Amino acid sequence: MSLQVCEIFKSLQGESTWAGRPCVFVRLTGCNLRCHWCDTPYAYEGGEILSARQVLERIDTLDCGLAHNLIEFTGGEPLLQPQAVELMNALARIGRTVLVETNGSLDISVLAPEVIAIVDMKGPSSGESDKMDIVNLERLRERDEVKFVIADRDDWTHMLGLLPRIDTSRNTVNVSPLFGGVAPAELARWMLGENLDLRLNLQQHKFIWNPDARGV
Ligand code: SF4
Repeated sequence: MSLQVCEIFKSLQGESTWAGRPCVFVRLTGCNLRCHWCDTPYAYEGGEILSARQVLERIDTLDCGLAHNLIEFTGGEPLLQPQAVELMNALARIGRTVLVETNGSLDISVLAPEVIAIVDMKGPSSGESDKMDIVNLERLRERDEVKFVIADRDDWTHMLGLLPRIDTSRNTVNVSPLFGGVAPAELARWMLGENLDLRLNLQQHKFIWNPDARGV
């Protein structure tokens, strides 16, 4: 069982309701989309081929054993690699807290119920909204979350059209202003104006460190 891995590093989780917690990130190589504003194009190709055991060893070297230490599989698009899915499912089943950030285009039902999916539904500004598997919104499990990156009013309107398909009292909907797009204060005003059950999701890592930095 081998995985094509872009990078493995430890940082603070930057997004979702888990933001601010220490986390080991496993970034897989390869993505089936090409979002206009992608901030990880270096993950499209390259990296190294590692066995599941080698990935696990690196995770355990970085993991400091805190009760809330997280492992996040990200990309690229992590669900493209069946071996990665097998590893995340196995880790979650033995009690590790495993998050997977997935781009919304692939069926999340391959994930074990113990894995927590953060489904990033792409809006019009990405240029990839027509590739979304909308049925994923009906596949969400209890602890899964949804993320919408909002660059402009078109993205906001697109998100409003999808919200009725999500039980927002159960699945947190993270609304994330595109870094360099709509101002967070403006997005906050839109949220308050609609009086919806949403969570403003600032990408903490881009405020703490250089927004262009890798591996943080
Ligand atoms: S899905 Fe993610 S990694 Fe893939 S192109 Fe879009 S932003 Fe980049």
